[in-house]
Amino acid sequence: MTKKDDDNPLEEIQKQLHDLLNNKNVQVAFAPFMESMKAKGEDAKKVKVEKEVTPPPDDFSRDERLDSIRSFDRRPKEIRDYLDRFVIKQEQAKRVLSVAVCDHYNHIRRCLEDEKLAKGEYVKPNVLLLGPTGVGKTFLMRNVAKLIGVPFVKADATKFSETGYVGYDVDDIVRDLVKAADGDVELAEFGIVYVDEIDKIASESSRNGKDVSGRGVQINLLKLMEETEVNLHAPQDMMGQMKAFMDMQKGAKPKKDTVSTRNILFIVSGAFDQLGENVRKRLDLNRIGFGSAEENSSSSESANRFLPKAETRDFIDYGFEPEFIGRLPVRVACEELTKEDLSEILNSSEGNVLEQYKNDFAGYDISLKIGEGAIDKIAEKAAKEKTGARGLVTILEKTFRDFKFELPSTAIRDFSITAETVEDPRIQLEKLLEETRDQLDDSLLEDVDRFSDQFKKECGFILKFRKAAKVAIVKESISENRSVRAICERKFSDFVHGLGILNQRTGKKEFVIDKKVVDDPDKELSNWVVKSFGKQQDSE
Ligand code: ADP
Repeated sequence: MTKKDDDNPLEEIQKQLHDLLNNKNVQVAFAPFMESMKAKGEDAKKVKVEKEVTPPPDDFSRDERLDSIRSFDRRPKEIRDYLDRFVIKQEQAKRVLSVAVCDHYNHIRRCLEDEKLAKGEYVKPNVLLLGPTGVGKTFLMRNVAKLIGVPFVKADATKFSETGYVGYDVDDIVRDLVKAADGDVELAEFGIVYVDEIDKIASESSRNGKDVSGRGVQINLLKLMEETEVNLHAPQDMMGQMKAFMDMQKGAKPKKDTVSTRNILFIVSGAFDQLGENVRKRLDLNRIGFGSAEENSSSSESANRFLPKAETRDFIDYGFEPEFIGRLPVRVACEELTKEDLSEILNSSEGNVLEQYKNDFAGYDISLKIGEGAIDKIAEKAAKEKTGARGLVTILEKTFRDFKFELPSTAIRDFSITAETVEDPRIQLEKLLEETRDQLDDSLLEDVDRFSDQFKKECGFILKFRKAAKVAIVKESISENRSVRAICERKFSDFVHGLGILNQRTGKKEFVIDKKVVDDPDKELSNWVVKSFGKQQDSE
């Protein structure tokens, strides 16, 4: 027996295994095995892999749309993930809204399956969204409505009047929802209504009983939020009433002429300027002397940080009817957007306003590139506007206004903006135009050829432009700030007729256009015609 044979075979196997495991190359071979083990482990834990969610396609029929609402099966995390693609920050609002929306549409689905449940009590998860302007409150809800495929309308609470004689009646918003659903009442009954500036109908004066109208509007809204049937035609809508009457006379099957608000989800929102400060004071009173320096700061920005701590009594003190606020069980505050958030919107929010500007330029075949520091500069300036993401539109508009006017008429096919462009767009535009002047002239010279081609196509005559003639036209186009085409059309407006006469007399189809012709086209044309007569007389 060799020595090896004497060794413990188990020890040998252990040693070999040890070597194998220490060999880095062998790990590669282990990888698939490890992966499958991991997958099995996850299977065992029954982790639900969220699928990518997309809104119903635009070409869905109404029945398909209704079916998808009635068979709602989204999860809150799917909705949150979808919102993440468009809305930056507002994590808390996304979570709370996703849950409220899932609860609501799940309830609708289950009521359709179970009559008993449908007859039971249900507290609708209507939402109160707090937060400053332009931080994405409406944007969140629009995207949610789109994802679920339900109609959406927005109105300002300040537009409502209690009676509806002057201004807008609260019921009108439900009728608008029907319009948003292309007149489909059934679809509208699953829609989402968004009422902004709700804080403005809860002014302090309503507490003293002076602001009767604000209170009246709250009560009317309350009825909608609970459950009511809204007439499809407003009492003042004589046309609508008459049309319904005539349809009936014609023997048309009477359509449902009321809209039930039972399943309509209501979102109300407002900036609640003073509320944060009120909450801060209440909390301070409760623990005198314990507020941190930061919490005691009285700036409106830091006061907004107290909005999430607002309780029912704060809203009642603010001027809301207790029943009204009671119908808004889901409350969540949206945060202010910092300069960094605004940058992120431009960098990563799908379909953000900068993409729209890129598309606008692409419409002229111009590619807009975003250079060093431009995004940060836009965000910095937008943040100073104090209007949230709306500030981005203001700054972008100022930056691109003149570029949009000038560039489409130049040869520039791509350009890039930097922080300096945002700081002083006019000067940077001038520089760009100056730098590309030669390029610009070339393209304008080509425009003369394009005119000549078009002329040949339309009347069969060939205009052979000399270089000096082309340059003269381009110079005129630049000094008059008009297109080459417009200049040529003006100069050669009589040529179709004049060259026609010449052609009849001489059979000529090709004409040389030199600088003399460009300087005084009509004179030269008549010279040609006169000469052609002379030639004819000579030959006679
Ligand atoms: P409000 O909070 O006043 O309802 P909006 O939702 O109407 O503000 O915001 C105006 C626009 O600004 C939106 O249409 C969207 O383009 C942009 N916007 C606002 N907030 C955000 C955000 N958090 N993320 C991405 N875009 C936003």
